[in-house]
Amino acid sequence: LNVIQDATCTFCGCVCDDIDLTVDVAESKIVEAKRACVLGKAWFFNHHIEDRPEALVDGEPATYDVAIERAADILSNAVMPVTYGLSDTTCEAQRVAVAITDWIGGTVDTTTSVCHGPSGIAFQGVGEVTCSLGEIKNRADYLIYWGGNPAESHPRHFTKYSLMPKGDFVPRGRKDRTAVLVDVRKTKSAKAADIFLQIKPRSDFEVAWALRALCRGVPVDPSIEQKTGISLEQLTEIMDGMKRARFGAILFGMGLTMTRGKHLNSEAILALARDMNQHSRWVAKPMRGHGNVTGADNVVSWSTGYPFGVHLGRGYPRFNPGEFTTTDLLARGEADAALIIASDPMSNFCQAARDHLATIPSVVLDPKLSETAKVATVAFTTATYGINVPGTVYRMDDVPIPLRPAFESPYKSDFEILKAIEKRIRDRQLAA
Ligand code: SF4
Repeated sequence: LNVIQDATCTFCGCVCDDIDLTVDVAESKIVEAKRACVLGKAWFFNHHIEDRPEALVDGEPATYDVAIERAADILSNAVMPVTYGLSDTTCEAQRVAVAITDWIGGTVDTTTSVCHGPSGIAFQGVGEVTCSLGEIKNRADYLIYWGGNPAESHPRHFTKYSLMPKGDFVPRGRKDRTAVLVDVRKTKSAKAADIFLQIKPRSDFEVAWALRALCRGVPVDPSIEQKTGISLEQLTEIMDGMKRARFGAILFGMGLTMTRGKHLNSEAILALARDMNQHSRWVAKPMRGHGNVTGADNVVSWSTGYPFGVHLGRGYPRFNPGEFTTTDLLARGEADAALIIASDPMSNFCQAARDHLATIPSVVLDPKLSETAKVATVAFTTATYGINVPGTVYRMDDVPIPLRPAFESPYKSDFEILKAIEKRIRDRQLAA
């Protein structure tokens, strides 16, 4: 047995980097994952090296070399190729995926476009008053969780980063914090909050905007209750608490970003946090889902200037969600090839997008034979990041974290395969 101390769990955006893994090296499996939550344990314990070919080309087993050559053919010959996924791989692999997309004049998009894409748009419009999770742990005495259910989606967020831990300026931990949950239904997280605001569906924007008005001393019409289900008295009480806080944080999830209003909802939350700084210190942070979706945002942003949905076909980056986001490109039948990394759009895109994806040549990198890998022209079997592959990921607060893998895989990493594809494409273009 081998013990890896302070390994990093890449299952969710908390990216907990304090997990002690016990590894049965002979069996290539993890038998203990100290400090991991129930989701993290499932991530580690269900990881097995599958006995699959290195790659499938047209459904037939193939070597990596053959598959890389075919992948380079597909991507080089496409007119409107799209690169998609990227939130469950390392930043090193993400960087190469952007480079490939640049060489082939394609569109690079990530799973952000179907989760916190509206927040990405809002950041560009309003800006972001931000901080690290360490600051929240050490300072936050007023927490608002909005449109999320961390108790079930990010179990250690409460215990390690926000609600429960003792911090330098909140020495009694939970006792020193007030927690508010805003949601359209009573989830498990509601039990952990001091105040639960059950708002009417599709009224997030109105609630946030009313709080903004109260923050700035603008009168709010009592009829707000009919629209939102929350009375003016309740909102005033919340605002009084927010103003009394020494350090407040609004942590918002997809219940906010993927309902009516979308990026306007995120803008309202970001503007509320900004306005609250007239009274005390306030921040707003999105709760990110996939292990390295924040890395995808960062890498695509520092490479192209925009976080997702970026077209590189004109030799310079163009950002236009709705036009250059993958589900739209596929549903309109515009993409003529796809490079999909560590994602399974065949399981969650709309029918029109899936129908089109099944008809175009595609290159898929995935440790599992996903639904997308099953319809791929070239499907690479890859090693799993974090468990078999070292590298860098970003926690949901934009802090980069190194990976400490548990054991080796017989399969190549996304980075190695993408690097080889990039070299083939680059060599061809430079020789032409
Ligand atoms: Fe893993 Fe997320 Fe659980 Fe942390 S909270 S152990 S990152 S699943």
